[in-house]
Amino acid sequence: MAHLATTWLSHVLPLRCLACPARTRGSGPSPLLCRSCTAELHALRCRDWEIDGTSGASGFRYEGAARALVRALKFRGALGAAAPLGSVLGAALDELAPGAVGIVPVPLHWRRRWQRGHNQSAALARAVAAARPGFRVLAALRKPRATRPQVGLGGGRRRRNVDGAFAVARLHIPKVLGARLVLVDDVVTTAATLRAARDVLVAAGASEVTLAAAAVAVEVRTGR
Ligand SMILES: [Zn+2]
Repeated sequence: MAHLATTWLSHVLPLRCLACPARTRGSGPSPLLCRSCTAELHALRCRDWEIDGTSGASGFRYEGAARALVRALKFRGALGAAAPLGSVLGAALDELAPGAVGIVPVPLHWRRRWQRGHNQSAALARAVAAARPGFRVLAALRKPRATRPQVGLGGGRRRRNVDGAFAVARLHIPKVLGARLVLVDDVVTTAATLRAARDVLVAAGASEVTLAAAAVAVEVRTGR
């Protein structure tokens, strides 16, 4: 329905592509992306990654139109960017985490969430769940300790920055026990954030935690 409304609107109002300044006429796979960015996104697909022995699922390399989409979602609050990112990540998870699982977004500290107005990882988790029958969002983690942005920190400092930053929300402890989970973040660089959040879920009794990021910021092994 939202897709139909957006397509109809594009004939009345000139829509800007979410990833570049071009106008989009509401045609193509997504009414929110121009044809050029749609083609570029196809070329940037990257199904999985491996960083220092940790591996996971992804949707794209963090470059060009994919980087622009992630930044539009994160910094401009363009929630429409979550759908194309989440659907491609969902397709990657078809192979890496088949069957029904809970999708856990990497949480923001409440102050950052309040400043930004939304959690980009939660929007991605909802988009993955919408694209994958049997998946459901499980906001099992909270972030009681504020951390510095990971950008600009080296590997060791990134680890120390997020060490002890995450906790399982008390209400969700029974749902995590024995559960198969997918942990979702927007971008993976050194995987320090995803590892720290995964360790908390495993310590709480999750039976399996697959790591996932909409985009990968480093040179990685790609599945295709
Ligand atoms: Zn574009």
